[in-house]
Formats: sequence, C-alpha cells, structure tokens
Amino acid sequence: PKKRRGPGRQFADHPEVAAAVRKWAAIDALSEQSGMANPLFLPRNSPNDTVIRALDTELLNFSAYNYLGLANHPRVVEAAKRGLDRYGASAAASRIVAGEIPLYGELERRLADIYQVGDAMVTTSGYLTNAGVIGFLLGERDVAICDALIHGSVVSGTQWAGCRRINFRHNDPESLRQVLRMSRSGFDRALVVIEGHYSMDGTVGRVDELAAIAREYDCAVMVDEAHSFGVFGEHGFGMREQLGMAGADVDIWMGTLSKALGSCGGFIAGDADLIRAMKASAPGVAMLTGGPAPSNISAALAGLEVLIEEPQRVARLWDNTRLFNAALRDRGIDLGVSEGTPICPVIVPGEMRAGFVSATLLQRGVYAGAISAPAVPIGKERLRFFVTSEHTEQQLVSTADLLAETIAAAEQIPEHAAAV
Ligand code: PMP
Repeated sequence: PKKRRGPGRQFADHPEVAAAVRKWAAIDALSEQSGMANPLFLPRNSPNDTVIRALDTELLNFSAYNYLGLANHPRVVEAAKRGLDRYGASAAASRIVAGEIPLYGELERRLADIYQVGDAMVTTSGYLTNAGVIGFLLGERDVAICDALIHGSVVSGTQWAGCRRINFRHNDPESLRQVLRMSRSGFDRALVVIEGHYSMDGTVGRVDELAAIAREYDCAVMVDEAHSFGVFGEHGFGMREQLGMAGADVDIWMGTLSKALGSCGGFIAGDADLIRAMKASAPGVAMLTGGPAPSNISAALAGLEVLIEEPQRVARLWDNTRLFNAALRDRGIDLGVSEGTPICPVIVPGEMRAGFVSATLLQRGVYAGAISAPAVPIGKERLRFFVTSEHTEQQLVSTADLLAETIAAAEQIPEHAAAV
C-alpha cells in the first residue's frame, strides 16, 4: 500500500516544494558558512528610499522600483493617511455591493484622460489585473499571443481563461507576423499581449509596431505598462505618450499602482463599455474580491498629481539612468541586451556567483537583488539595479566602482550550487 503522508505534510514530497526547500537550505548554508547576510526577504525598517535601514545599518538601495521616489514622497504618504481617516482601513466589501468610494472614480477618470480612452478601472493588484482581465475576456476557442518574455501574471491569465497561448520572439515584429500568419485563422478571438518595458532585461517594447501588426490580423492588443508608466513619455504617461499613439491603438492599457506611482494596486484603461463590463462581471478584479484599500487609491492619486506637476522627476530619472549605464559600460560590465533604461541587468553568469556579488555588495552597504532561474535563463543570472530619480551622482558612480571590483572577485566562486 502507498505510504500515507502525515498531517500538514501532504506536499512535503511534491517535486516543486521539495526543490524549493533544498534551494533555500543551500542559500541558508552558504550564508551561514560565509557569515554574509542573506539578501532575500531582508527586513527593512524604513521606507523604500534610496537609502534604507536594514541589518542594523544603512544600505544604498537599488532593489526598489520606486522609479520617481513617490512611495515615500510626503504628499503621497499624507494622502494615504487622509484616505484612511476618511474611508477607513478597508473597503470591507466588493465595489459592486458596498465597497464603492469616490476616490476610485476620481483615479479612473484621470487614468482614462491620460490614455485618451473612454474609461478605466482600478484594482487591488497588478498581478490580479492581468490574470482576471485575460481570464474574463478569453475562452477555449481563443488565443493569447504573447511576447516570449511576458510577465507570469499574463501566463496565469491564459490559464484562467483556458485559452491557447503562443509566444513570439521577444520584441520581434517579424516573429509576431509569422505566428499570426500561421495561427490566427485557427481561433475565434486573438489577443496580442506585450509590455512597454521588460523587467528582467531593460528592453523597450516596440508597442506601436507590434500593435499595428496585430491590427492587420484582426487581433486585440493589451499592453502591460507596469514598468513603463511613470518612466516613458515626457510626462511619464507611458508608451502611448512616448510613441505618440492614439488611445484606441491598444484595446487594453494595463498598469500597476505599485511601481512608479508609489502605491499598491493595478489598473486598466480602454473602451468604456469594455471597462464597464469588467467592473460588473470580471472575477478577481471587480467581482468576488474586495475593493482596493482607500489609502492605496488616495496615495496613487497623490502620486499621479506629483507626476503631473513635476515632470522634472522623469527627466531626472533619465539623467541618472544615462549616467549609471555609462558608468557600468565604462567599467566593462555586461548589461546583456538592455537598452539603457532605468532597469539595469548586470549579468553575472552562475547563480552562486550572482549570489556572491549580491551578498558582497550587501556587506559593503549596497542592496541589489540577484535573479536566477527560472526567472531568467540559466547562464544569464544577474543582479538587477533599479535607478530612480532620487539617486545621487555620487551614489551611482561609487556603486559602479564597487560592482566592477566585486564581479572580478566573483570569478573565484563556482558558478552553481552543485559544484560547491
Ligand atoms: N506586470 C509586470 C510586467 C510586472 O513586473 C508586475 C510586478 N512585478 C506586475 C504585472 C504585477 O504588478 P503588481 O506588483 O501590482 O501585482
């Protein structure tokens, strides 16, 4: 007879659970052996500013996607407090029943105006927005045609939808055209899903070109602006502004409140009927889930106001980005396929080497996370640096120096845990 698993241990022999347990044990052991702090799940005792308090010290921080410094901007923090005072800590209901507050509509109108579309909807999470929207809009006879580097939340959406998912080569219009030529006719609806700014590589989505090809083949288009809203466009209004597109060139503009806007939550903007339908009926984004926390929406509104009033933040973000990218390249540091954006992937092949560089930097007071498989391909492990408008020139240059020194030292380390 099959051995019964003990109570609470039903998943102990699950391959993914077991692999994760082994991986964490190896990381813990390495950190213990070396006496270096583990940079993962590092508790922070301050806002996510350019300098944070952690490990009883101050760390120079490149791990936060707080692109414009809004997560800790006094106006944003004050607005969150006002939201709390006025509407309480929780929506305490789904929007359709009793959760609705005027703040939601206010932010939605502003987002719809920015995107020059009929309406918008704010939600509790960017992840759930992708999953819920795609899950609601597509079905078994449909297909999602995705950039090969599309975010996991979109993949979850296709799973919710039960639709087919076909990838095209990253950011490659010819590859998209080829996929559409070969497979479009086999499906009822087709949704092409791309991003404005890719979070692992710092590449910039060719949104206008890809959307135009999608239209030729009668496809809908969805653009994830998680890392492009607040970053691209003269005012930080994202790829529509950057590329001079019309709002209706894309069916669903999706974004998050959790990155440049300094809050937490997600949004979509598009045709008014479509948004209305989703507000009323889409599970996970509007139905069967509580409304976004009032403080989060109030904070996001203030973040948007600061963005609108201070476009110089976006200019400063790009000045810093140019400076940091040039400093890294001058020191011979491999930035992979990055296009010189605020997301700087510093390629350090081998998860142990990338971990060593990250841990050494941490010991020397610089916090930048290592990323390994499955988030990136094996051999393309990296440290990811987020530049913000608030970093100083001195911080950026001293970090480039430290990185060059540490990457050289990492060559002594075996590439993978198995070799330790
Ligand atoms: N899309 C992309 C491209 C992302 O990078 C992320 C967050 N990492 C999300 C969606 C999800 O956003 P949120 O953090 O608001 O859930």
